[in-house]
Amino acid sequence: MDEKGEVYLVGAGPGAPDLITVRGREMISKAEVIVHDSLIPMKLLSLAREDAEIIDVGKRGGYHKVRQDGINQILVDKALEGKRVVRLKGGDPFMFGRGGEEAEVLRSNGIRVHLVPGVTSPVSVPGLAGIPVTHRNMASTVTFVTGHEGAHKEDEIIDWSSLARLGGTIVILMGVGHMRKNMTSLMEGGMDPSIPVAVVERGATKDQRTVTGTVEDIADACERSEVGAPAIIIVGEVTRVRDLLGDLE
Ligand code: SAH
Repeated sequence: MDEKGEVYLVGAGPGAPDLITVRGREMISKAEVIVHDSLIPMKLLSLAREDAEIIDVGKRGGYHKVRQDGINQILVDKALEGKRVVRLKGGDPFMFGRGGEEAEVLRSNGIRVHLVPGVTSPVSVPGLAGIPVTHRNMASTVTFVTGHEGAHKEDEIIDWSSLARLGGTIVILMGVGHMRKNMTSLMEGGMDPSIPVAVVERGATKDQRTVTGTVEDIADACERSEVGAPAIIIVGEVTRVRDLLGDLE
C-alpha cells in the first residue's frame, strides 16, 4: 500500500492562516505535492518544502480552473507516483467542497487516504461575527445548506419549505448568487419574513464584513453593499446575539 503513495486531505480552516490545526501545518511542511483550492490562506503555502510541487486547482464563482475529474486525476496520478500528497481544502475537507468524492476516488484506486479535519466556515465564520449557530434559548438545531451558485442538480433536492418549518438556524454556503431566490423559497415555505438574517463576507480575514437584515430584505441589503463570495448566510434568531457581542476577534 505504501509504495502507492498517500493522500492527506487537510482542512485549511476558514481564512486566517493560524486557524489551521497543528497536524495540518505539519502535513503541509512534509508534503511532496500540494494540491490546493483558491479558498485557502495562501500564506500556508510558505510552510511547504522548497522542493514541493504546488498545484493550484482553485475554482471561483462557477469557473473551474481544473474540473473535478481533472483534480481527481491529478491526485490519483501523484499518489501512484509514490508521492506524499496533501490535498489542501478550505475549512473542513468534508463540509461541501467535494472532499468526500475525492476520498472515494482515491480509495477505489487503492490509495491510502488520511483526514486532517479543519475549522469549518459555517460554524466559525458566524462565530467570529458574534453569532453562535446554536443557543439554548433560540435554536436547538442548525442545518447546513448549499445555496448553489453553480448550476447543479442538488438545487432540486433542497426542500426549502421543510427548512422553513424546521426552524432553528439555517446556515447557507455558496449562497450569494441565489440569495433572492432562496429567501423567497423560505417565505413561500411559510417562514416569517421578519426572521433576522446575517451575511458574513470573507470571514476570518482582515476584510471580514457583515450585512444584516431579514429574510424579506436581506437580498436588497446585500445588493446595495455589493456582497460577494465567499460569504456565509445565517438565517435565524441567533443572528440577534451579534447585536450584543459584535465581531469577536
Ligand atoms: N469546506 C469548506 C466549505 C467549502 S464550500 C468549509 O468547511 O468551510 C465554499 C463556501 O464556504 C463559500 O461559498 C462560502 O459560503 C463558505 N466560505 C468558506 N470560507 C469562507 C470565509 N472565509 N468567509 C465566508 N464564507 C466562507
